[in-house]
Amino acid sequence: MAVLENRHALITGGGSGIGASTAAHLAAAGAKCSLLGRRSGPIEQVAGETSGKAIPCDVTDRKAIEAAYESARHAHGPIELLIVNAGIADSAPFAKLAADDWDRIIAVNLTAAFHCAQAALPDLLEGKDTRIIFVASVAGLRGTPYAAHYAASKHGLLGLMRSMAKEFAKSPLTVNAICPGYVDTPMTDQSASRVAAKTGRSEAESREAIAAFNANGRLVHPDGVATQIFTLCLPQSRDVNGAALVIDGGSDA
Ligand code: NDP
Repeated sequence: MAVLENRHALITGGGSGIGASTAAHLAAAGAKCSLLGRRSGPIEQVAGETSGKAIPCDVTDRKAIEAAYESARHAHGPIELLIVNAGIADSAPFAKLAADDWDRIIAVNLTAAFHCAQAALPDLLEGKDTRIIFVASVAGLRGTPYAAHYAASKHGLLGLMRSMAKEFAKSPLTVNAICPGYVDTPMTDQSASRVAAKTGRSEAESREAIAAFNANGRLVHPDGVATQIFTLCLPQSRDVNGAALVIDGGSDA
């Protein structure tokens, strides 16, 4: 029997990057995946080869989350493994950071994470050996110039994770976070485009400049992040609780 046979994994932002890679890893281990995101369409268009159910949902809308969860439960039963991964990034000098941009980043990266976690809580507390894994960032552990809103949202996410981990320590639920450095995903492609537009460098040079922020000088592969999420989902990880696992090539060593 596969290690996650018939476990119901719900992944927000499951249609691209880290989320799609995570869905592929969990599905390969036997999990039934529900993939939430604003993009809709057949699963092949949403997350490549993964087996799962694509459910259109804007995670900033609590009612939409609840409707999407109902649809996910209808397909696969109660939620057992919740991967809160949907997120957006942006950059601006602090003096020019618009209040609307601050609100938008906090809404998707932090407030939506609260809603996604709280709406799944009854399933997770009634289930056996359940998980929440928040995809945070190294920006949640240290200051990030030109991205104060992004860093603040990810710091908040780690506060949410640690508080929940302690509050539910004696329940079937563990709550952890993954803190990647720069990962080779569409989000980083967008960052490279912004750097290229601002500096006049090529996109390739801009990607290299971004990769240089990781101590080993290369972008993290999304499969490297997905593998750690998969490991946290294993029954053998049940005593890992309240951890923020850094995957950044050694920058924080
Ligand atoms: P992607 O841009 O590929 O993935 C982001 C996902 O979030 C998309 O699938 C998108 O789906 C979803 N999303 C965004 N806004 C919403 C919304 N309002 N409602 C529902 N879904 C939404 O980038 P990554 O895979 O890199 O990002 C995944 C996570 O990893 C994010 O939380 C990011 O902050 C974090 N991270 C990324 C790093 C990197 O270097 N790339 C580094 C550290 C952390 P859709 O467009 O369909 O709505």
